[in-house]
Amino acid sequence: MFVTPNFVRIDIMNEFLKDVIKLKRRILVVDDEEINRRMLSKILSSEYEVLTAENGDRAIEIITGERELLSLILLDLYMPGKDGYEVLKLIRETPRLKKIPVIVLTSDGSAEVQSLKLGAADFIPKPYDLPDVILARIEKTIQLYEAINIVKATQFDPLTGLYNKEYFMEYALVMDQFYREREMDAVAVNINRFHILNEIHGRIIGDRILRMIGRALKEYAEEHDGIACRYDADGYFLYLPHGEDVYSGLSEKIKSIEDGIIKNIHNRIRYGIYPRSDRKCDIHRRFDCALLACNSIKGDYKREVSYYDSSMLEFEAYSERLAADMDQGLSEGRFKVYYQPKYFIQSEEPYLSSAEALIRWDHPELGMISPGQFIPIFEGNGMIRKLDRFVWREAARQIGEWKRLHGKSLPVSVNVSRIDLMETGFTDEIRSIMDEAGITPEEFLLEVTESAYTEDSDRIIEVVKNLRSLGMRIEMDDFGTGYSSLNMLSSLPIDVLKLDMGFIRNIENNEKNLKMVELVMNIASYLNLKVVAEGVETKEQYKLLKKTGVHLVQGYYFSRPVPADEMEKILLKG
Ligand code: C2E
Ligand code: CA
Ligand code: CA
Repeated sequence: MFVTPNFVRIDIMNEFLKDVIKLKRRILVVDDEEINRRMLSKILSSEYEVLTAENGDRAIEIITGERELLSLILLDLYMPGKDGYEVLKLIRETPRLKKIPVIVLTSDGSAEVQSLKLGAADFIPKPYDLPDVILARIEKTIQLYEAINIVKATQFDPLTGLYNKEYFMEYALVMDQFYREREMDAVAVNINRFHILNEIHGRIIGDRILRMIGRALKEYAEEHDGIACRYDADGYFLYLPHGEDVYSGLSEKIKSIEDGIIKNIHNRIRYGIYPRSDRKCDIHRRFDCALLACNSIKGDYKREVSYYDSSMLEFEAYSERLAADMDQGLSEGRFKVYYQPKYFIQSEEPYLSSAEALIRWDHPELGMISPGQFIPIFEGNGMIRKLDRFVWREAARQIGEWKRLHGKSLPVSVNVSRIDLMETGFTDEIRSIMDEAGITPEEFLLEVTESAYTEDSDRIIEVVKNLRSLGMRIEMDDFGTGYSSLNMLSSLPIDVLKLDMGFIRNIENNEKNLKMVELVMNIASYLNLKVVAEGVETKEQYKLLKKTGVHLVQGYYFSRPVPADEMEKILLKG
């Protein structure tokens, strides 16, 4: 393992010392002879608050009781009963007492060496004939230990015992200077939705998870000549000599933790790796890159690892640009709601049954941007809330208008993000949107993706239940991409399963996909749910789906998503 560098955060230390310097420190004098106790008390009492103990047992009582408040212990080595050596040993072996410096009082030269070996900070020879020397030595020892303790406190993350981020970065720099030729990997490790684990299991278990993962990562780092730190609540960094398979190594390490809870969460951990990180780049920047890679797969449940490459930086800049332009886009009417019809196919001729509202952005400089690009970005930064509200309002207004103008009711479904559902007052908001537009709950459907259910199930189920009690119908979007079990499905408050496009693609040539659709149909009929197939592009697909009993289809075969005026024409044609 690498040697710990010897730098001290003087700035932090001085700030701290300035505040505590005014306090009178407390010293414990342990000596069996009363005359010695008295003399030392006399010398010390002008500068310090002095406690005394006449034997080892009494000393231990005071030490364990006053541990935080003692700045120093003066300890006589030879006492009847528990002697000074035993007291010293106990202090050095107890982690929470280790911080207190001990100065040994002795008249025996050979004992000095032994007590220093046992961890005494210094010794004062008897008799006590030079009070100024004694005072100076004591002061120096206390200052030194306080400084060391502060450095230690600022160097480690108290929960996991790993380095903290600042120290880690300094350390990484020292490693760079030391091993100039070595290629180094910067690694970021994060736990997906850790806050939910905290909510489900409570803080104590949450902390335990963080500690155990931290320990595993530290172990891996040490085995590979690297270092690890905790950079924020549920995130860790590692700086390692380049390895070919860091990802498998790390995930194996975490899987090997013997703990029931960890067993269930190792697949929640995501890794961002910047292999052979560029040394010309600032060390903080290099970890930003690892983090960028790590966050690029946030919310993508199929991927655990991502490797940094320079296109990610471009993507980051692009994301920032879109975020900066959203408000202006909204106020200038650059966002448009398109509609894609859904057809009921279990009748002789398919007929228009409803539509899905899908947002489009006509950007003045970037042109048409697909929601596939900006939705994930806005979901990541929370801006989706505002955008979704715009879509809901606009779609509701449009349905209301068509109803009034043509006397035709076209139910429209809107997409709802997970964070929308977590918002308090969500149900009230939906209700007031419907009221304002003059539409009924039967005319306004919500699409919630399957992964939202499997993530925060309790909260989401509660909200969705409220919505259904208003008379609304809920579609489970992208069904087949999340992890709902059959058991879970039967207890979820939903009305419609919306099969993910992946199942439909290639259904003509792929027996397995067709079987999957049939299976879903069985489940749906058992649970009394309607099924929508989306992404239907060909006549063959449509025919096959009709045969399997799928109720509704949506896709390019019938119509692409279209602007409101075209949707109006489709509606009028029926
Ligand atoms: P989604 O909810 O799964 O929407 C279906 C997507 O499939 C739409 O992509 C639609 O245009 C596309 N699609 C429909 N038929 C076909 C087909 O036959 N073939 C193919 N290849 N694609 C088809 P779009 O409009 O690009 O939207 C992408 C995703 O963005 C949506 O996936 C949805 O998750 C999200 N999104 C769109 N509008 C909104 C919105 O207003 N709010 C939120 N939160 N998300 C939205
Ligand atoms: Ca959808
Ligand atoms: Ca979908």
